[in-house]
Amino acid sequence: MFDKVEAFYRPANVREALRLLQSGKGQARVVAGGTDVVVEGDDSVRFLIDITHAGLSYIRQRRAAWVIGATTTMAELEESELIHALAGGLLSRVARWCGSALVRNLATLGGNMANGSPAADMATPLLVLDAAVVMLDARGRRKLPLAEYLAGARTKRYSKSLLVEVVVPEPPDGKGCRWSFQKLGRTAVDISLVNVAAGLQLDFRGRVKWARIALGAVAPTPMRAAGAEQRMTGRVLDQALLAEIGAEVAREVSPISDARASAEYRREICSVLTRRALEECSAHAECSL
Ligand SMILES: Cc1cc2nc3c(=O)[nH]c(=O)nc-3n(C[C@H](O)[C@H](O)[C@H](O)COP(=O)(O)OP(=O)(O)OC[C@H]3O[C@@H](n4cnc5c(N)ncnc54)[C@H](O)[C@@H]3O)c2cc1C
Repeated sequence: MFDKVEAFYRPANVREALRLLQSGKGQARVVAGGTDVVVEGDDSVRFLIDITHAGLSYIRQRRAAWVIGATTTMAELEESELIHALAGGLLSRVARWCGSALVRNLATLGGNMANGSPAADMATPLLVLDAAVVMLDARGRRKLPLAEYLAGARTKRYSKSLLVEVVVPEPPDGKGCRWSFQKLGRTAVDISLVNVAAGLQLDFRGRVKWARIALGAVAPTPMRAAGAEQRMTGRVLDQALLAEIGAEVAREVSPISDARASAEYRREICSVLTRRALEECSAHAECSL
């Protein structure tokens, strides 16, 4: 717990939140839903900055993109009509996997990204959707590819920055794409042992036109399986190719053994979940396996 906290702030806008964060001299910490930060209970923290009243809870369509404010909760993502209309409702379905209903009422999308966990469930579908994030720091606002942000969040490079929003561009040839999310956890409300998101577009002959595969909890940060994506493109998605892609992702990942699972088990599960994800995508495509 935060035994040494001296002040708890609740700024009404992001500029004020940033000012408080920067004047905290490394001893201030942002709190959104608090479901990660409270569990962590860092003794060096003297100031907590609750950003849930800073105007970052929104879901909008801006030109061709979907823009999601950082303090939007998992429960709001589950319910949102706008999010249901993006990528077959992929983000709503994934949000429904993030812990129990109580956790989802508090847990925010920004917290899930900023925490820097390799197992953050929302990261893999957002990588598959080529999402970017908008950050605010002393230099102003800037947009970063999500993969770059996740790498920095893990090493605490952005600890004096605010994550403002997540931007999801319209998927390429959106209507023909199919999407899947597969998660293995110890129970239905547990953190992922492995999670896989996939996006797939087949042409009328069943050949892969466009593919995205992202994996969580099998590397220091959630990652794209770029080699597997490349290997699939232009080829007919049959059982032989599925087996080949399953083996390829197992080579691309670098899981660790921990209290939840061994590295060998995680590697095996990567293959299985990737094949399932691609099968699910292809079952709904016009040309199925
Ligand atoms: C019982 C339980 C079950 C869980 N199950 C899952 C699960 O199934 N899947 C899953 O992915 N996660 C799960 N989690 C983890 C957690 O709920 C999520 O990661 C959640 O999205 C974190 O969001 P939060 O708003 O609670 O973050 P917080 O705890 O408020 O913050 C997390 C970190 O991010 C920083 N931060 C938060 N928002 C910002 C911002 N806008 N800008 C800069 N920094 C920021 C904080 O300073 C802190 O370091 C679970 C947690 C619990 C306790």
